Amino acid sequence: MIEDGRAVGIKGRSKHGGPVTERAEIVVGADGRHSFVAEAVRPEHYDEKPILLVAYYTYWSGLPMFGKFEQYIRDGTGFAAAPTHDGLTMVIAGWPYARFDDCRKDIEGNYLKTIALAPAFADRLHEAKREARFTGAAVPNYFRKPYGPGWVLVGDAGYNRDFITGQGIMDAFHDAGLCAVAIDRAFSGAQPFDVAMSEYHRARDTRVAAMYEFTCMLATLEPPPPDMQHFFGAIHGNQRAMDAFARMNAGTISPAEFFAPENVNAMTAAWGRS
Ligand SMILES: Cc1cc2nc3c(=O)[nH]c(=O)nc-3n(C[C@H](O)[C@H](O)[C@H](O)COP(=O)(O)OP(=O)(O)OC[C@H]3O[C@@H](n4cnc5c(N)ncnc54)[C@H](O)[C@@H]3O)c2cc1C
Repeated sequence: MIEDGRAVGIKGRSKHGGPVTERAEIVVGADGRHSFVAEAVRPEHYDEKPILLVAYYTYWSGLPMFGKFEQYIRDGTGFAAAPTHDGLTMVIAGWPYARFDDCRKDIEGNYLKTIALAPAFADRLHEAKREARFTGAAVPNYFRKPYGPGWVLVGDAGYNRDFITGQGIMDAFHDAGLCAVAIDRAFSGAQPFDVAMSEYHRARDTRVAAMYEFTCMLATLEPPPPDMQHFFGAIHGNQRAMDAFARMNAGTISPAEFFAPENVNAMTAAWGRS
């Protein structure tokens, strides 16, 4: 509910079907990519990038992964496989979004064609059984200003990035923590609402900025720029550097730190010596 330009609560239906009205000093929109709250309050958008990638995934039985995650990017397409529960393996294949119209004419055919680009894996998949239908995914990349009069946004409602780096759940938890602290400061009178929330906003954007760019670069499925390729070649076989690369992909260190010139120089030099 918006009154005089300010969010003042929500109107909805209870799970038994009856109408519900709740008034609140702050409405928190933690309601995902299709956020109803964001739609109502129309926040400023910035640093938007179009949908870059479309992918389809399904689950297979009889596809041993030996506890490993595997990923292949070939000829502008790619796929990844990860063991999940009950002996099932999730295999996701993706294409640049520009090819979506073509690819969706034959999802299974294109999915299998992409996997055939890694013949040894394709042989293993050939022995496996598909246990679920194909599910598609393609998401936009955006930042939204996460606060305004009477409202705040958390998680995908306020910031979304392609799924290729798998950062969204951690990002949402980080937002929830930062936002809870800001709400506490505002409610306790330690800071005015706008000041507390602008700190939340700044902290969110600073933390994710480098990963956003890295994610959007990967989501094009194009080869990385030459200097990055050289760097990846340089760290191949260097266990400490590869561990750091894994940490960056897990989101526990920022690409800004990993790709910092002093880190790149140190790791490249270590490779030169080995
Ligand atoms: C294909 C794909 C793969 C992904 N893989 C990964 C991955 O491997 N790792 C990772 O970290 N992230 C991944 N993500 C991203 C991740 O799923 C999201 O970033 C994360 O779930 C965002 O959390 P959230 O709480 O902001 O939103 P959501 O998880 O979308 O939760 C929003 C909740 O709000 C509820 N809701 C919506 N509207 C209303 C309403 N009007 N009233 C009441 N409730 C409402 C919804 O039912 C939902 O429960 C992936 C995304 C996609 C599309």
